[in-house]
Amino acid sequence: MSNLDEFLAGERLDDVVFFVSDAYLDDDSRLRNVGVETDDGVRLILDGETGRSAFEAGTGMGAMEFAKTAMGADGEISRSLDDGVCPFADGDSGDDDSGDDDSGDDDSDTGSDADHAVQFVFAFAEAQNDEVGGIYADGDVVHAYAHCTCGESYSHKWVIGERAE
Ligand SMILES: [Zn+2]
Repeated sequence: MSNLDEFLAGERLDDVVFFVSDAYLDDDSRLRNVGVETDDGVRLILDGETGRSAFEAGTGMGAMEFAKTAMGADGEISRSLDDGVCPFADGDSGDDDSGDDDSGDDDSDTGSDADHAVQFVFAFAEAQNDEVGGIYADGDVVHAYAHCTCGESYSHKWVIGERAE
């Protein structure tokens, strides 16, 4: 089981996940040595304090400040915490039917991909809390916050185990 799988299973409640896209991160950033390279960037899974420091070093923003900003908008962040769907992308936020982006030239309305790419994601998991109620009583909750190339931020939270992907 990878660190990410453990995090997503609620087994790393003290850790945070920090993902930075290749476009945003310097090629020689030392974060590349600390994290795991993914298709689009680098993902770090660190204990809370180290993770928040890394986030601040990587983005120039405080993690919790950023989270508060991102909380203002609901978006969709992939379960793997390295991609998302910006709620500020134009269009009537429809279902992305086929989602077959690889097909060359017929990009009639796919401009939003370039305009709304994930720059970085910060996520943590919170233990089930019956006193708070709501979804917090249903299980451990993953809180994820993303920053988009359009300059906006958004958030997504889900109960662990209730999301397949
Ligand atoms: Zn955006």
